[in-house]
Amino acid sequence: MAVAQENWRDTEPSLDEVMASHGDVSPYVIIKTDVQRRGVLFSKKALQAVNHDVAALKMRGIYQEKENGEPNGLILNDGTSIIMEEMDADSAKSGRGRDAFVVDLIDGKAVLTDNGTVVTEVSYWPKPDYFDKLTSRGTPMWQVVNARPQRIGIAMYQFCDFWKAGAGGKGCKFCAIASTCKTTKEKKDMLINEDDVVETVAEVLKQPGRLRMIQLCCGTLLGGEGELLDEEVNMYAHLLRRLGELFSTKKILTQLIATAYTEKQLRRLYEETILSSYTADIEVLNENIFNWLCPGKAERIGYKGWKERLFRAVDVFGEHNVNTGIVSGVEFSRPVGFTSEEEALESTLREAEDFISHGVGIAQTVWQIRGNTPLRNQRAPSLEYLIQVAVGLDALQRKYRQEVYFDDFRTCGNHPNTDLARI
Ligand code: SF4
Repeated sequence: MAVAQENWRDTEPSLDEVMASHGDVSPYVIIKTDVQRRGVLFSKKALQAVNHDVAALKMRGIYQEKENGEPNGLILNDGTSIIMEEMDADSAKSGRGRDAFVVDLIDGKAVLTDNGTVVTEVSYWPKPDYFDKLTSRGTPMWQVVNARPQRIGIAMYQFCDFWKAGAGGKGCKFCAIASTCKTTKEKKDMLINEDDVVETVAEVLKQPGRLRMIQLCCGTLLGGEGELLDEEVNMYAHLLRRLGELFSTKKILTQLIATAYTEKQLRRLYEETILSSYTADIEVLNENIFNWLCPGKAERIGYKGWKERLFRAVDVFGEHNVNTGIVSGVEFSRPVGFTSEEEALESTLREAEDFISHGVGIAQTVWQIRGNTPLRNQRAPSLEYLIQVAVGLDALQRKYRQEVYFDDFRTCGNHPNTDLARI
């Protein structure tokens, strides 16, 4: 288990210093990035004051099953949202190599604190109307889809075939899906029931103004009678056609975060369903590190193959409708990753430009080191580095006029770089 280094604050620019040196970046985006990097805990007082009728407090996701009474997410004063990754016992003790932030209650207000000093006020993601209802099969709807303030997420397959023993247990080293699955398999099915999903989405739609986008994201299904991944494509095509019956227009703001498909598979999804955008996560913008971190993806599709499939996806879905996610910071994982932040920044942005100039946007997700992943003993880079990546990616997306409408602060709210698109 990694242990928080006592002197880490002396070895890198502080939150205040990073905010002072990036006057053109919203301080809330910088705070959010640091919270994601270091994690956050709740004081007893803060938890006791949470209004259970108003806040969303439980979540069934592929990376965590959360029912511990902590809010699913924070909202800062300018509307910036932060997803709460539950701090498992190991991560909480280690603070991911640094001290975690703490949400406390001071003068009756929930506040984010760092080292005992108030950083900013916070509020919590609101509970949507569907949350405590049951489907006709008796399934609690909060277990069927998860909710952010502005969208819902559907995770049909709760496992990932890359982790299967038959596939060599070659899942991505930073990913918590396998351990989440292991600890929750007694209480959930591996495949979410499609009738439950359609019924829950219909219920979600009854709440006016609540839903901006439907996102679909789950683990990889490698099987299929035709091509590799046909099983996964069939699952999504069937579900999306059924969801389409709930709407009167041909396309709906939807995002599929999935494995990298062939052009034929992509065309099928685009032409037969309401799907309007597509994401296939390359995870790290470096082929050598990708091969080490994502051995299953590397073996079945490869870094260059993944990239090429994303470029072809732009032909199918059109400009501004395709992107790829990176786990920002994981490029420093030892022993294969970078050792110098300058070198990593230069290399990451150079490779990002190749994607963006081909019409593929980049969504920066901050690496949250989880105690239940093979990378539990690693250390994330400095906050300054992560902000430089966000600023660099934002500049590139502006240079190539790459709109990130389907994955920006309005629609997703999880990516520091696309949060910057608001200015
Ligand atoms: S493809 Fe990699 S990151 Fe995605 S669910 Fe599978 S193991 Fe996790």
